[in-house]
Amino acid sequence: MANSLYSGLPTTIFTVMSALAREHGAVNLGQGFPDEPGPEAILRAASEALLHASNQYPPMQGLPELREAVAHHYTRQGLQLDPTREVTVTSGATEALACAFLGLIEPGDEVVLFQPLYDSYLPMVRRAGGVPRLARLEPPHWRFDRAMLERLFTDRTRMVVLNNPLNPTATVFGEEDLALLAEFCVRHDAVAVCDEVWEQVVFGNAIHRPLIGFPGMRERTVKIGSAGKMFALTGWKVGWLLAAPALTEMIAKAHQFLTFTTAPNLQAGVAWGLANSEAWFEAMPEALDRSRQRLTEGLRREGFVVLPSEGTYFLNIDLAASGIDEDDASFCFRSVKEAGVAGIPVSAFYETDPVTNVLRLCFAKRDATLDAGVEGLARARDLSRRAAA
Ligand code: PMP
Ligand code: GLN
Repeated sequence: MANSLYSGLPTTIFTVMSALAREHGAVNLGQGFPDEPGPEAILRAASEALLHASNQYPPMQGLPELREAVAHHYTRQGLQLDPTREVTVTSGATEALACAFLGLIEPGDEVVLFQPLYDSYLPMVRRAGGVPRLARLEPPHWRFDRAMLERLFTDRTRMVVLNNPLNPTATVFGEEDLALLAEFCVRHDAVAVCDEVWEQVVFGNAIHRPLIGFPGMRERTVKIGSAGKMFALTGWKVGWLLAAPALTEMIAKAHQFLTFTTAPNLQAGVAWGLANSEAWFEAMPEALDRSRQRLTEGLRREGFVVLPSEGTYFLNIDLAASGIDEDDASFCFRSVKEAGVAGIPVSAFYETDPVTNVLRLCFAKRDATLDAGVEGLARARDLSRRAAA
């Protein structure tokens, strides 16, 4: 017995590449997780809670102290949220996304999504009965425009899913992009599900703006965040959903039967972190920015063409422009098996008409890891050229 949607799915590319990296002893610049252990004070706060606070079921919507800390945190984005009626704690953004899709989509509803897309979106939208309408974003700008939205939105559109900052392209959508999307959501009475897990990880002049803050969006946006990304603790899987009470009520009904709740000590650690991390929120993007520059410079020295990265843990290489005449997936498998470096092929984030010349690399790594990655990628390029000759 098998559900046909799941039986037709491959194993996620992140798992495939991390397994290959382990098997071949490769440097892993694939799956996005930091080398460093994460902020020690937050780890201590969670350990304290593990030993000295309750280890029984926390409230279904999340620990009150965490919901309050989350609501307070987002005042920095100009948002006023009611912690009791507008915040739901989940087991990572992955669960939050599933709750939003299962709780809000009625079978047959059209859902607008942008490729490249994070790999959990389409299966969960479909499992909820949604009918995907897919846009295709392409390098170097990876942006949508009015004509694209006119083609995608119909009178059956009920939801749009936006990931901003966008994984894997490392782009941050600006004021104009977001205002345009908000205009379409309002015109079509659609809900926006905004996956903003990378909101704290932006570089240089890029500024993260939440779509929920745009005119007409406060009542029709579900904003999703993740402590994993905020605090470089990706294994914690503590996330949240922020939405007006009517949306939160439906989403909580999905959440109560997916996981019901999330480990209380990790919630306590995150609550402590949100209340005590001004310095971390300054230092974390600065440190990542240095790693981003180190990897970019190393790759450029070796002759690779690097696409701009405005946010996330990732930057991308344009393989074709770097003189590699091999598609991203083939190059990626060659690189991990023959040259000891894992990356992620960006084509894996498309269902239709993939962009096949872009390789995603994670730079949330120690200098030595990044330098070894550059060396390995140069070897992979030489092997690829030799194979093509
Ligand atoms: N959405 C995006 C865009 C992500 O990049 C990730 C993780 N990298 C997630 C969701 C999942 O977040 P979590 O680990 O909190 O489930
Ligand atoms: N979001 C991470 C990435 O983009 C991977 C998460 C996962 O492995 N499920 O690399």
